[in-house]
Amino acid sequence: MTGRVYKSTGSWYTVKTEFGDTYECRIKGKFRIKGIKSTNPIAVGDVVDFELESDNNQESGIIYNIHDRANYIVRKSVNLSKQTHIIAANLDQVFLMITINNPPTLTSFIDRFLVTAEAYSVKTILLFNKIDVYDEDTLNEVRYLAHVYRKIGYECIGVSAKTGKNVDKVKALMHDKVSMFSGHSGVGKSTLVNAIEPDLNLKTKEISSLHMQGQHTTTFAEMFDLSFSARIIDTPGIKGFGIVDMDKEEIGDYFPEFFALKQDCKFNNCLHVNEPKCAVKKALDDGAVEYTRYRSYLQIIEGDEEHYRTDNWEQ
Ligand code: GDP
Ligand code: ZN
Repeated sequence: MTGRVYKSTGSWYTVKTEFGDTYECRIKGKFRIKGIKSTNPIAVGDVVDFELESDNNQESGIIYNIHDRANYIVRKSVNLSKQTHIIAANLDQVFLMITINNPPTLTSFIDRFLVTAEAYSVKTILLFNKIDVYDEDTLNEVRYLAHVYRKIGYECIGVSAKTGKNVDKVKALMHDKVSMFSGHSGVGKSTLVNAIEPDLNLKTKEISSLHMQGQHTTTFAEMFDLSFSARIIDTPGIKGFGIVDMDKEEIGDYFPEFFALKQDCKFNNCLHVNEPKCAVKKALDDGAVEYTRYRSYLQIIEGDEEHYRTDNWEQ
């Protein structure tokens, strides 16, 4: 039988078949996926093959195969072992929720998030929330940012989780897809999910506040079916995408507008910093590349590991 992992406790996996039946499954023996060293071999979102074992009255299963992942997102533990934990697999898209104030979302955070999402091959849609409370100046800021990010290929929607404005657009995009909501605490993730599906009570909120008290919590992602043929992955306590190990030369490739220009740089390993005849720097001078994007890029390539992190990012 084949199904998708909806929940994991570390040793048991809740697997749902396409008919909607769920089975509690385990892995038999050691299970390793080539190329990935992680603390968990199977993550929420994985598609797995399993066989039933009759265990008294209830039926449980043994997972014997994992289907290739379209993508997966990881978190590295901050302790010394630096082990990788796979948070979720096979995500169709992530909605990055942004507010201009209360709380502010800086472009450096947005750009780091997008770089990581590009590196993970996860499509990102930008949602500018709380447009119901913004004054004209703040709305102009939203318009400007939406323009900047649309120009380089990201879909942007102004929404209000509170009044319901454009929530139907978000729902339409979620149809038949697996989605995740990200963004700083306080941007309105819970409120929006509640507007989308009122009876779904995600844990996101409580657990991220536990994190803020500095408690060590092991959190597990969980997938939920919504009433309109959409799925959502809840990742309690995880605000962003964690670290991606990237080479310096690779980072520019995750800025789509830089990547598009790269072939016009004189050097094919151009870092777009001090090299002569750099097409990205020329575009920057011409105004075709946004300065804020370039500044974020410099921060990332000049920074240490901390700059790759979006999950422990403090303002
Ligand atoms: P989360 O931490 O991202 O889950 O954020 P919450 O959903 O808990 O929202 C944080 C605060 O922002 C709450 O007081 C919400 O009522 C408020 N909020 C969320 N969305 C909106 C919105 O669209 N407009 C306004 N005015 N307030 C909102
Ligand atoms: Zn260049």
